[in-house]
Amino acid sequence: MGKAFAGKSVVVTGSTSGIGLGIARAFAGGGANVMLNGLGEPAAIEASRAGIEKEFGVKARYHGADMTRPAEIADLVRTAEKEFGAVDILVNNAGIQHVSPVDEFPVDKWDAIIAINLSSAFHATRAALPGMKKRGWGRVINVASAHGLVASPYKSAYVAAKHGVIGFTKSVALEVAELGITVNAICPGYVMTPIVEKQIDDQARVHGIPRENVIRDVILAPQPSKQFVKVEDVAAIALHLASPAAAQINGTSISIDGGWTAR
Ligand code: NAD
Repeated sequence: MGKAFAGKSVVVTGSTSGIGLGIARAFAGGGANVMLNGLGEPAAIEASRAGIEKEFGVKARYHGADMTRPAEIADLVRTAEKEFGAVDILVNNAGIQHVSPVDEFPVDKWDAIIAINLSSAFHATRAALPGMKKRGWGRVINVASAHGLVASPYKSAYVAAKHGVIGFTKSVALEVAELGITVNAICPGYVMTPIVEKQIDDQARVHGIPRENVIRDVILAPQPSKQFVKVEDVAAIALHLASPAAAQINGTSISIDGGWTAR
């Protein structure tokens, strides 16, 4: 049997680590060509890229676009179109976090979070949609967060950006609904990746308590299952959203949060 995504091409922003890398690997496993993006050590990035090609027999490329720079984001999409012939699936995943009371929130951190977590999805979608419209098929998958639906204190920029991503998702979904394109968001609860590792340290500082207590009493406090979400399980939702069975799923968000947002 052929692979589900053979012949498709996928761009995943922020795919040098964590959820983005998991999603890129999952699509490659389904036979898609993948464009990696993100920060990191060149040798480690090259190892991920070459590893994907070897393991899955697809084309994997890397583009170092900085998600705070609109022209670089447009070039990321253009380069993928040139390398693969198309961008059929765009996964807007890059994201950062900063934890601080709002009246002490560093202005540069606010600006960076809005740029990377929200505006980069606009710039990449803006660049990828014309090709999708021309081909009459496309999937935009935005990695939002439980924090796109509900809030936590000390995360004003992140919560604002992720709520913004969900609004953006709905608006673009309506624009393209008749064109064979869908736009959806995934809202994970806590997944143990470097972004969460860093929050454990930050929260330990803000609350003045040890790491173990942060994990139990702060990080997993809102997640009723008391378990971290798995990267692979987030990736499985992305694959489903890109599959033919999801053709009528449009403009919505799918939660994977151990029950968090049921409260
Ligand atoms: P991560 O830190 O492992 O990955 C973030 C990725 O974004 C990395 O590849 C990093 O290099 C990239 N990135 C950061 N700044 C960038 C920039 N300026 N330009 C280009 N790339 C940049 O974190 P993760 O947990 O895998 O997060 C991925 C997404 O999932 C984020 O949008 C995050 O908000 C979201 N999310 C994570 C969790 C979680 O618990 N881990 C929960 C909900 C949502």
